[in-house]
Amino acid sequence: MARYTGPVCRLCRAEQKKLMLKGDRCKSDKCAINRKRPAPGKDPKGHALKPSDYRIQLREKQKLRRIYGMLEKQFHLFFERALRTAGITGENLFVLLERRLDNVVFRLHFAASRAQARQLVLHGHIRVNGKPIDVPSYLIRAGDEVAVKENSKSLAIVKDALREYGKSGVSPWLELDPDVLKGKFVAAPRRSDITDLADIKEQMIVEYYSK
Ligand code: SF4
Repeated sequence: MARYTGPVCRLCRAEQKKLMLKGDRCKSDKCAINRKRPAPGKDPKGHALKPSDYRIQLREKQKLRRIYGMLEKQFHLFFERALRTAGITGENLFVLLERRLDNVVFRLHFAASRAQARQLVLHGHIRVNGKPIDVPSYLIRAGDEVAVKENSKSLAIVKDALREYGKSGVSPWLELDPDVLKGKFVAAPRRSDITDLADIKEQMIVEYYSK
Protein backbone atom coordinates (compact mmCIF):
# COMPACT_ATOMS: atom_id res chain seq x y z
CA MET A 1 0.00 0.00 0.00
CA ALA A 2 1.26 3.50 -0.82
CA ARG A 3 2.47 5.49 2.18
CA TYR A 4 3.02 9.16 2.89
CA THR A 5 6.71 9.65 2.15
CA GLY A 6 7.04 13.42 2.58
CA PRO A 7 8.66 15.17 5.54
CA VAL A 8 6.79 13.93 8.61
CA CYS A 9 7.59 16.96 10.79
CA ARG A 10 5.40 18.93 8.40
CA LEU A 11 2.45 16.77 9.53
CA CYS A 12 3.06 17.76 13.16
CA ARG A 13 3.35 21.41 12.21
CA ALA A 14 0.06 21.19 10.30
CA GLU A 15 -1.67 19.83 13.42
CA GLN A 16 0.38 22.02 15.81
CA LYS A 17 0.89 18.89 17.91
CA LYS A 18 3.76 16.52 18.53
CA LEU A 19 2.66 13.36 16.72
CA MET A 20 5.93 11.62 17.73
CA LEU A 21 6.70 10.29 14.25
CA LYS A 22 10.51 10.42 14.38
CA GLY A 23 11.61 8.57 17.50
CA ASP A 24 14.55 10.19 19.30
CA ARG A 25 14.31 13.49 17.43
CA CYS A 26 10.80 14.06 18.82
CA LYS A 27 12.21 14.32 22.35
CA SER A 28 15.06 16.61 21.40
CA ASP A 29 15.34 20.37 20.89
CA LYS A 30 15.46 19.71 17.14
CA CYS A 31 11.71 18.99 17.12
CA ALA A 32 9.98 21.58 14.92
CA ILE A 33 7.14 21.90 17.44
CA ASN A 34 9.58 22.73 20.25
CA ARG A 35 11.04 25.40 18.00
CA LYS A 36 7.52 26.75 17.44
CA ARG A 37 7.75 26.91 13.67
CA PRO A 38 4.40 28.02 12.18
CA ALA A 39 2.12 25.46 10.54
CA PRO A 40 2.64 25.09 6.77
CA GLY A 41 0.61 27.70 4.93
CA LYS A 42 -0.29 29.56 8.15
CA ASP A 43 0.27 33.20 8.87
CA PRO A 44 3.48 33.26 10.98
CA LYS A 45 1.91 35.98 13.14
CA GLY A 46 -0.90 33.57 13.98
CA HIS A 47 -3.69 35.60 12.37
CA ALA A 48 -6.26 32.98 11.52
CA LEU A 49 -10.01 32.81 11.10
CA LYS A 50 -12.00 30.84 13.66
CA PRO A 51 -12.08 27.27 12.29
CA SER A 52 -15.43 25.73 11.33
CA ASP A 53 -16.80 22.65 13.14
CA TYR A 54 -16.00 20.61 10.06
CA ARG A 55 -12.39 21.77 10.07
CA ILE A 56 -11.98 20.97 13.77
CA GLN A 57 -13.40 17.48 13.22
CA LEU A 58 -11.20 16.94 10.17
CA ARG A 59 -8.07 18.00 12.02
CA GLU A 60 -8.85 15.66 14.93
CA LYS A 61 -9.28 12.76 12.52
CA GLN A 62 -6.07 13.63 10.67
CA LYS A 63 -4.12 13.82 13.92
CA LEU A 64 -5.13 10.34 15.05
CA ARG A 65 -4.67 8.84 11.58
CA ARG A 66 -1.18 10.28 11.33
CA ILE A 67 -0.17 9.21 14.83
CA TYR A 68 -0.90 5.59 13.85
CA GLY A 69 0.67 6.10 10.40
CA MET A 70 -2.35 5.02 8.37
CA LEU A 71 -3.76 6.04 5.02
CA GLU A 72 -7.32 7.35 4.84
CA LYS A 73 -8.82 4.23 3.29
CA GLN A 74 -7.55 1.88 5.98
CA PHE A 75 -8.32 4.33 8.78
CA HIS A 76 -11.89 4.62 7.51
CA LEU A 77 -12.18 0.82 7.46
CA PHE A 78 -11.07 0.74 11.09
CA PHE A 79 -13.70 3.35 11.88
CA GLU A 80 -16.41 1.30 10.11
CA ARG A 81 -15.40 -1.73 12.15
CA ALA A 82 -15.52 0.32 15.36
CA LEU A 83 -19.00 1.50 14.39
CA ARG A 84 -20.22 -2.09 13.91
CA THR A 85 -18.82 -3.18 17.29
CA ALA A 86 -21.02 -2.95 20.38
CA GLY A 87 -20.10 -0.09 22.71
CA ILE A 88 -18.90 3.47 22.23
CA THR A 89 -17.58 3.95 18.70
CA GLY A 90 -14.76 6.35 19.61
CA GLU A 91 -13.47 4.01 22.30
CA ASN A 92 -13.81 1.00 20.00
CA LEU A 93 -11.70 2.85 17.44
CA PHE A 94 -8.92 3.40 19.96
CA VAL A 95 -8.96 -0.25 20.99
CA LEU A 96 -8.70 -1.38 17.36
CA LEU A 97 -5.81 1.02 16.69
CA GLU A 98 -3.99 -0.16 19.79
CA ARG A 99 -4.38 -3.79 18.68
CA ARG A 100 -2.43 -3.18 15.45
CA LEU A 101 0.75 -5.23 15.44
CA ASP A 102 2.99 -2.29 14.47
CA ASN A 103 1.56 -0.28 17.37
CA VAL A 104 2.13 -3.14 19.85
CA VAL A 105 5.74 -3.51 18.64
CA PHE A 106 6.21 0.24 19.21
CA ARG A 107 4.53 0.18 22.62
CA LEU A 108 6.77 -2.73 23.69
CA HIS A 109 9.77 -0.47 22.86
CA PHE A 110 11.14 -2.76 20.14
CA ALA A 111 11.18 0.37 17.90
CA ALA A 112 11.57 4.11 18.51
CA SER A 113 8.53 5.08 16.42
CA ARG A 114 5.48 3.44 14.87
CA ALA A 115 7.07 3.93 11.43
CA GLN A 116 10.14 2.00 12.56
CA ALA A 117 7.91 -0.68 14.10
CA ARG A 118 6.08 -1.00 10.81
CA GLN A 119 9.40 -1.64 9.02
CA LEU A 120 10.36 -4.30 11.57
CA VAL A 121 7.07 -6.09 10.95
CA LEU A 122 7.25 -5.76 7.16
CA HIS A 123 10.78 -7.16 7.11
CA GLY A 124 9.76 -10.26 9.04
CA HIS A 125 11.53 -9.54 12.34
CA ILE A 126 8.44 -10.08 14.50
CA ARG A 127 6.63 -13.21 15.65
CA VAL A 128 3.18 -13.52 17.15
CA ASN A 129 2.63 -16.60 19.30
CA GLY A 130 5.78 -18.05 17.72
CA LYS A 131 4.60 -17.54 14.12
CA PRO A 132 6.10 -14.96 11.75
CA ILE A 133 3.61 -12.19 10.90
CA ASP A 134 4.60 -9.47 8.44
CA VAL A 135 1.33 -7.53 8.28
CA PRO A 136 1.53 -4.22 10.27
CA SER A 137 -2.29 -3.97 10.56
CA TYR A 138 -2.62 -7.52 11.96
CA LEU A 139 -4.88 -7.28 15.02
CA ILE A 140 -3.46 -8.67 18.24
CA ARG A 141 -5.84 -10.36 20.69
CA ALA A 142 -5.79 -10.55 24.48
CA GLY A 143 -3.21 -13.11 25.56
CA ASP A 144 -1.15 -12.98 22.33
CA GLU A 145 2.62 -12.96 22.67
CA VAL A 146 4.67 -10.65 20.45
CA ALA A 147 8.41 -11.25 20.19
CA VAL A 148 11.43 -10.24 18.15
CA LYS A 149 12.62 -13.15 15.97
CA GLU A 150 15.65 -14.95 17.41
CA ASN A 151 18.00 -13.90 14.58
CA SER A 152 16.83 -10.28 14.83
CA LYS A 153 17.47 -9.76 18.54
CA SER A 154 20.85 -8.18 17.85
CA LEU A 155 19.43 -5.51 15.51
CA ALA A 156 20.75 -2.09 16.55
CA ILE A 157 17.38 -0.35 16.18
CA VAL A 158 15.74 -2.85 18.54
CA LYS A 159 18.53 -2.65 21.12
CA ASP A 160 18.69 1.15 20.92
CA ALA A 161 14.93 1.58 21.29
CA LEU A 162 14.73 -0.78 24.23
CA ARG A 163 17.70 0.85 25.96
CA GLU A 164 16.28 4.34 25.41
CA TYR A 165 12.60 3.77 26.19
CA GLY A 166 12.45 0.44 28.04
CA LYS A 167 13.31 2.14 31.34
CA SER A 168 9.94 3.89 31.37
CA GLY A 169 8.09 0.56 31.44
CA VAL A 170 5.27 -0.47 29.14
CA SER A 171 1.62 0.51 28.96
CA PRO A 172 -0.57 -1.13 31.63
CA TRP A 173 -2.27 -3.47 29.14
CA LEU A 174 1.08 -4.95 28.08
CA GLU A 175 3.81 -7.05 29.68
CA LEU A 176 7.43 -7.07 28.57
CA ASP A 177 10.29 -9.43 29.27
CA PRO A 178 13.23 -7.31 28.01
CA ASP A 179 15.74 -10.14 28.45
CA VAL A 180 14.12 -12.32 25.79
CA LEU A 181 12.51 -9.47 23.80
CA LYS A 182 9.08 -10.89 24.24
CA GLY A 183 5.88 -9.12 25.27
CA LYS A 184 2.27 -9.95 25.91
CA PHE A 185 -0.93 -8.08 25.06
CA VAL A 186 -2.66 -8.84 28.35
CA ALA A 187 -6.03 -7.26 27.60
CA ALA A 188 -7.53 -4.56 25.41
CA PRO A 189 -6.97 -1.13 26.99
CA ARG A 190 -9.75 1.12 28.19
CA ARG A 191 -9.81 4.58 26.63
CA SER A 192 -8.72 6.09 29.94
CA ASP A 193 -5.59 3.88 29.91
CA ILE A 194 -4.28 5.55 26.73
CA THR A 195 -3.00 8.59 28.57
CA ASP A 196 -0.49 9.77 25.96
CA LEU A 197 -3.41 10.41 23.58
CA ALA A 198 -5.77 11.80 26.21
CA ASP A 199 -6.09 15.09 24.32
CA ILE A 200 -7.54 13.46 21.19
CA LYS A 201 -11.28 14.13 21.00
CA GLU A 202 -12.57 10.94 19.41
CA GLN A 203 -16.16 12.21 19.45
CA MET A 204 -15.07 14.76 16.80
CA ILE A 205 -13.87 11.89 14.62
CA VAL A 206 -17.20 10.11 15.04
CA GLU A 207 -18.97 13.32 14.01
CA TYR A 208 -16.64 13.76 11.04
CA TYR A 209 -17.52 10.33 9.60
CA SER A 210 -21.21 10.66 10.50
CA LYS A 211 -21.80 13.47 8.01
FE1 SF4 B 1 6.75 15.71 15.09
FE2 SF4 B 1 8.76 14.28 15.99
FE3 SF4 B 1 9.14 15.97 13.93
FE4 SF4 B 1 8.73 16.90 16.43
S1 SF4 B 1 10.50 15.72 15.67
S2 SF4 B 1 7.77 17.69 14.57
S3 SF4 B 1 7.24 15.39 17.23
S4 SF4 B 1 7.87 14.11 13.97
